[in-house]
Amino acid sequence: MGRGRSRPNARELRVLLDQHAGGLAACARCTFDDPLIKPVVSSSREPLAMLVGQAPGKTEVIDRRPFAGRAGRTMFRWFADVGISEPVARRRIYIAAITRCFPGSSPSGRGDRVPSPFQMSNCSSWLEREVEIIAPRVMILVGRLAIERFLDAKPLSELVGRVHPVSELPGSPLAIPLPHPSGASSWIHMPGHADLVRRALRLIAEHLPELVRESARERSVA
Ligand code: SF4
Repeated sequence: MGRGRSRPNARELRVLLDQHAGGLAACARCTFDDPLIKPVVSSSREPLAMLVGQAPGKTEVIDRRPFAGRAGRTMFRWFADVGISEPVARRRIYIAAITRCFPGSSPSGRGDRVPSPFQMSNCSSWLEREVEIIAPRVMILVGRLAIERFLDAKPLSELVGRVHPVSELPGSPLAIPLPHPSGASSWIHMPGHADLVRRALRLIAEHLPELVRESARERSVA
């Protein structure tokens, strides 16, 4: 694996992530007008993979879980299409983001505001520490901001549907990009792009077969 470090065992991972989540939940490096805006933190303590999104939205401010709103429903439906249930995804994929606090609504009224460079810079050490702790096998990069944080800037159609090794990160993860499921972008509706998304989802299932097996097992005992 990259940068000569072994992955922590399950117990160590849980302890490290609990400590990390405590610090992140109390983070107040940025200031927001609305006192309800607080960091949204993943509950996963046994992750095999990480997912990096852009930032929480309004629903997540209330629900306190990442991807709890409409975009999340679309994303978890995509995962279900390749056999990965939402409970298993939430347990085995640590859901991170470029920033962890809702940056506000877009002035255009379409979607959320893009986090400011100041917020992104303030928040980046939380993400770096999570990659260091988890040393993920797979990193699912959701949306352009997350994709360009780890991969060279290219058109989404050249990135989605492929696996990209990121050997310089702990764990030497395979990055698998997805478009943002918020519906704010028209990219997914353009010819051929739904096929690229399906191909990316099949790659996620192929590289994380444990998640497909666990989902099937839990369905069979439900
Ligand atoms: S956006 Fe990130 S750095 Fe800023 S307060 Fe929220 S958690 Fe902290």
